[in-house]
Amino acid sequence: MKRLLAVALATLSAPLTAAAALTAAPAAEPIPLGILSDAAMPLAYRIDLTVLPEKERFTGHVEIDVTVKAATRSLYLHGRDLHIGAVAARVGGRTIPAHYSQVEDSGVAQLIFDGVLPTGKATLLFDYDAAFGDSAAGLYRIKVADQWYAWTQFESIDARAAFPGFDQPGYKTPFTVSLTTRPGLVALSNAPEVKSVPVGDLVRHEFAATRPLPTYLVAFVVGPFVTASGTIAPSAQRAAPLPSRIVGTQPYRDKLGFALENSGPIILGLERYFDTPFPFPKLDQIGSPVMPGAMENAGADIYGDTILLLDKDASTDRKKTFGMVVAHELSHQWFGDLVTPAWWDDIWLNESFANWMGYRIGDEWRPDLKIWAGALDEGFAAMNVDALKAGRPIHQPIRTNGEIDSAFDQVTYGKGGHVVSMIAAYLGDEKFRDGVRLHLKRYAYGNASTEQFFGSLADAAHDPRVLASLKSFVDQQGVPVVRVERTGDGLKVSQKRYALLGSDLPPQSWIIPLCVRIGASRDCSLLDTPSATIPLKAAGAIIPNAGGTGYYRFSLPEAQWKALIATSASLPSGEASALTDSLWAAFRAGELSPSLLLDAARAMAGNDYSVAAVEGGSRLVGLRLRGQIAGGALPGYRRFLKQVYGPRLDAIGFDPRAGLYAGDDADRQKLRADLVDLVAGEADDKPLRMRLWKAAAAWLAGDRAALDQAFFDAGLAAYLVEGGDRALATLFDKAMSSDDSLFRDRAIGVMGAVDRAAAGRWLIDRLGDQRLRAGDRVGLLVSLAQQPTTRDMAYDWAVTHYDELARGNGIFAVNRLATLPGRYCSAAKAAEIEKALRPHIVKQQRGALALDRTVEQVHSCGVLEEKRGGEIRAMFGGK
Ligand SMILES: [Zn+2]
Repeated sequence: MKRLLAVALATLSAPLTAAAALTAAPAAEPIPLGILSDAAMPLAYRIDLTVLPEKERFTGHVEIDVTVKAATRSLYLHGRDLHIGAVAARVGGRTIPAHYSQVEDSGVAQLIFDGVLPTGKATLLFDYDAAFGDSAAGLYRIKVADQWYAWTQFESIDARAAFPGFDQPGYKTPFTVSLTTRPGLVALSNAPEVKSVPVGDLVRHEFAATRPLPTYLVAFVVGPFVTASGTIAPSAQRAAPLPSRIVGTQPYRDKLGFALENSGPIILGLERYFDTPFPFPKLDQIGSPVMPGAMENAGADIYGDTILLLDKDASTDRKKTFGMVVAHELSHQWFGDLVTPAWWDDIWLNESFANWMGYRIGDEWRPDLKIWAGALDEGFAAMNVDALKAGRPIHQPIRTNGEIDSAFDQVTYGKGGHVVSMIAAYLGDEKFRDGVRLHLKRYAYGNASTEQFFGSLADAAHDPRVLASLKSFVDQQGVPVVRVERTGDGLKVSQKRYALLGSDLPPQSWIIPLCVRIGASRDCSLLDTPSATIPLKAAGAIIPNAGGTGYYRFSLPEAQWKALIATSASLPSGEASALTDSLWAAFRAGELSPSLLLDAARAMAGNDYSVAAVEGGSRLVGLRLRGQIAGGALPGYRRFLKQVYGPRLDAIGFDPRAGLYAGDDADRQKLRADLVDLVAGEADDKPLRMRLWKAAAAWLAGDRAALDQAFFDAGLAAYLVEGGDRALATLFDKAMSSDDSLFRDRAIGVMGAVDRAAAGRWLIDRLGDQRLRAGDRVGLLVSLAQQPTTRDMAYDWAVTHYDELARGNGIFAVNRLATLPGRYCSAAKAAEIEKALRPHIVKQQRGALALDRTVEQVHSCGVLEEKRGGEIRAMFGGK
């Protein structure tokens, strides 16, 4: 799965209390709040669902073959908000009636049998019905262009909201599925359809039995979809062509071709890397308007519309996202689906590896998009979270159902992916790849733990110290910072745990694969002591994180910072990103004068890599959003941005019309779009904004050639700034009546970023509009909370309506709501947020870590502001 934040279905019913259930149970076995006991183990599922997306509920008949370990009268399993009409066990020719009750909110249920269930094989039989969800969790339905569609999203523990079962990743069994629906609707699941038969006025679609799968990888999709079909040619690893389809809702009729054409090369790249064929008999990739990321269901991946369904004129940003996310989900078909973690504490193996692989194979697919550099950028961004005292290691015990979703955070994805790339770079590509191949062969169609993965790597790498290094990053939280200084013998290097100014963290050490470069001289070694000397004596700027693959920050004496900053324009992408991250980290630790940040932004603006070129400016925007650049400092700030980024934009040229730069290098197209955002918005360049405004107004009036997709955000933002209240009302109505997910998402983001009090209030008054989907509402609030003038009103509204917002949206909203106040910057406000939000978090039992992090970030920003705020504003001539 690839997502920024976790998703789960809200629990709507009022289940029995645990105490009541325990009294009813004949056995005194406690309710399993995490992993189930092995009293009964599933062997195979047969799932027959009737899915009519226009109805509010669906119905099902489920049969689960199990092995019963010891004779019993009761069993625990999973089911959430299911209305079970009939339940029984069949043993030989005999039927034993049973009673089902849900005994815990997260979806633990109990079966109590009228007789003794004997040791050995049995089949559990269920007839039930349940409500569709309305956001991406469980089996959910959404109306698009006046027609209803249904999709599923089961990871992590939402399969239990669609069918009763043993909903944990360690149980892998075949699933034989049928979906009964109206004639003419498309019905898909993980396996190929074998036949369809009429049942009254409906049609039953029957699918082949799957290869062994865990419940979280099962998928059902029903609706009046459009599809594009093709095959992926045989490869050195696969003899037969692989059937491949792209599936979307009706409005995407003409946007299926790009994904169909471009998935093939990604599959072939993955087959080459793993040296194993695609593990399932077909591949469907399906778009959903409300999926906040993508999910690797075996043979039936589901993506947010805007990730999967693009046309050839899409912006570089969207093509980058396509390559990275599609390669991520498809790499899971091997790493996750073929070999699955036994329990959620090993989920980092799936996600950290798929993150690294997504960037790597995405990069092979289209090197011109510079997808690989994005992997390191995601890792450096994760350091900001990992630097806090509140946190978790990548690999962490998961005891209860409430803790599972906390494992899907920036630490697992961004840090995990970066750590994998560091180890792969240090071991060497071939040794690392051999370890991965060995692992897949050993555990194909089964489960494997972290220790077993380490074992496979060790057997291929023959280097136990590298494994010890990997463990030092995987099993402890925090970011190392390496100090590098010149001495007579070369470079003195020393390590400690990075800490923000005013933050007191316990000391820690790592075994760091440290690669340092000076010009063409390079030294890589494992730093496993507090300090050491590296025999690198060449003259020139020191690059303490060569290639940027190391998951560590660095610090330098001031003269060395200056020498390194002077080389900014020519640094390769990973080293450029490492420099910006480490400089800002040194500033936030209180060790660096902020004027160096401006020198670096100016020097880095000449870098070839688009992200590096604008990163210094983007970080200054962050200071402004937190109120650290305000009042009298604003004119100087805007002047600085215009002086630094204006000339670069002038040099590469700008015209808003569609397709004019299609022949340009892809990353240069992205650079142009990013520069336009900064110069027209933050630098307040009125003539540029007027051009964008006119282009956006023409686009909204139907002239699709007036505005290129790359300038969509800048264009819509200019339209709002220049068009005032009328423009806001027009854009809101157009967004609400649109079935184009990209336009909807963009319009909501841009409206929320309007930063004008009256406009903010107007939007807040519209939060009750029924046309806003559950995710839209939270998205709009989060966006309003970023901006200084609308932050308070969005935060106050979110606090007042917290439970209602969280109930309607599940864990996805809970985590986003907990991070919503993250742009505040004061110790007093941190305490107030803690007091206002903690009771809600406790009540929802979710989002605790996200709130801990938010409160700490707001507090530490306040400390920095108190000590250095004046200096920041003085740089721009303010107070
Ligand atoms: Zn994933």
